[in-house]
Amino acid sequence: MIKQENTYLGANGLAYCKICGEPVEAFFPPDSILGMKKHFRQCACVRKKRESEEKAQKEREHCELVERNKKICFEEPRMYDWNFELAENTTVIEKAKEYAANWNDMKKNHIGFLLWGPIGTGKSYIAGCIANALLNQEITVKMTNFNTIIDDMFPLEDKKEYINALARYELLILDDLGTERNSEYALGIVFSVIDRRYRSGRSLIVTTNLPIKQLKEETNIEKKRIYDRILEMCVPLYVGGSRYRSNIAHEKMGKMKTFFATAESSQTENIIEQTGTKTICCLYLSIDIRNRKGVIALQKPTYYLWRTDYTSSEDFEADKEKYTKIGFRVVTFADGQPDKNIHNGIKALIRNHIKEINQ
Ligand SMILES: [Zn+2]
Repeated sequence: MIKQENTYLGANGLAYCKICGEPVEAFFPPDSILGMKKHFRQCACVRKKRESEEKAQKEREHCELVERNKKICFEEPRMYDWNFELAENTTVIEKAKEYAANWNDMKKNHIGFLLWGPIGTGKSYIAGCIANALLNQEITVKMTNFNTIIDDMFPLEDKKEYINALARYELLILDDLGTERNSEYALGIVFSVIDRRYRSGRSLIVTTNLPIKQLKEETNIEKKRIYDRILEMCVPLYVGGSRYRSNIAHEKMGKMKTFFATAESSQTENIIEQTGTKTICCLYLSIDIRNRKGVIALQKPTYYLWRTDYTSSEDFEADKEKYTKIGFRVVTFADGQPDKNIHNGIKALIRNHIKEINQ
């Protein structure tokens, strides 16, 4: 409603909005029983305000729905942020983007992906990116793995209902096929889930470290019927780290070796300036050289946190959250001897990286 001080009286006897110039009143039709009486009408300002409120409300509802569905989709909150914007632009990422962008066609034709390749090449990350892109389109997705499924189902009386529930998601992502237990019981569940999905006619994405050859040539009958179904539903897509590892890694390895050979001099930041090793992806190399445990090729800028740097676990968790929110993958070291030189070197690299981002 427009306040009276924001209106003026027009020559025709109607009040007009001073801002948009439209009348805020209108006469009833002359032949109506109300005669020359007036009624309120919405001027452009009011309409605009209402539209933007409605838009904001819709946006809020959309965000709430997406957040809710993300919680259902993923088992770990860090996966909520896996998105294409943060991914290195490879051929596979391009295909994954296309998949998400053309979801209606993919869905109609029941097309899925089999993302296969060595450990640590970002297969789960790519699947997570697809999941998030679709979740943002308000599509229901579930990303899980057979170890979780088998554990979840173990105590259930009604195993069928659990399997049916998995079949109801518009997209199901089964991460890390082949790492589940090899028992007859486990294989039975794997088959039931995949077969149910197959019969639902809905799309499936599978990630696995198993080579495609092994899937195609499997002789064990239990496994063969699982793999046959998957190969029928999913387009195989090789996710290799070879380009990344061989080309970029080789190129930078020399620089990093120089870096560590001279890091003792504690002029870490100067050395980085000289060698130009300013990108965070170098961190993976630096880690690899010294054989830090459990670190693999990274698809995403990574921040390394040493727990021993923090006096309280609250501070540690706060920092961890901060870097996760920025978009880093955070790797934490809770134990072991923090190597002083690597430690400082990495910190310096990150400082430079952040400086670059801020420039
Ligand atoms: Zn107005």
